[in-house]
Amino acid sequence: MGRPKTLSKCKIKGCGKDAASRDRCWTHYKQWDRAYGHLRCHWPGCRTHQDDGGRRMNGVFLCRRHEHEHLRITQQALALNLERLGHGLTADANGCWLWHGPANDGGYGLFVPEGANTAKWYAHRVAWGLLIGGHRPGLELDHRTCKRRNCVNPLHLEPVTTSTNQRRKRIGPEWAWINPDAAASPNIHEFAERHGLPMPDHGAPTTIRKTRCTTPPKLSAKPESLTRPTPTIAA
Ligand SMILES: [Zn+2]
Ligand SMILES: [Zn+2]
Ligand SMILES: [Zn+2]
Repeated sequence: MGRPKTLSKCKIKGCGKDAASRDRCWTHYKQWDRAYGHLRCHWPGCRTHQDDGGRRMNGVFLCRRHEHEHLRITQQALALNLERLGHGLTADANGCWLWHGPANDGGYGLFVPEGANTAKWYAHRVAWGLLIGGHRPGLELDHRTCKRRNCVNPLHLEPVTTSTNQRRKRIGPEWAWINPDAAASPNIHEFAERHGLPMPDHGAPTTIRKTRCTTPPKLSAKPESLTRPTPTIAA
């Protein structure tokens, strides 16, 4: 972020001209503005462009900060999304909540929220949206703690810039790290309890460091070998 303007080039492949606006030269900016410039976040007062990431569903675009609103369009949609998410998860000994629904080629879990038609969200984005909320546009969710793409536990996720996410790929999992904002969210504790998912003690995320970070999981472990507590909620 914050590249000096004089150094940036148009982001359109093969262009090479100096960027003028939204990382595009004037020619490409005007092209983009005609096609997409009107597409701003649907949330009242939000001026974020679709270009900054986010989702368009049922003709409504919501930015990263506000996309979680789609997951709770109605109380019924919210309840359904929470139940579908909870019933698609298996916990493991490292505190990961692994999604067993469909996944893309890259191994990221996919989830079609209620009311989204066929729009597929990353399952970890759904979990973040349902249990934590939105985050600043332009950031992406890094699986900082576990580096497991089908893990949706918000305690293991952090909104970061693309460059930070890329740099962290070289570092690998940071098992001692737990997202403090996620740990402080009452929603996540309620959800975890309802679906029998592991959580560090209330307000004491440090306890998980001592007990859970000593044995990183084998990434080749088969999901079948992982235990899942019997859900207490009828489907
Ligand atoms: Zn250009
Ligand atoms: Zn917005
Ligand atoms: Zn995880």
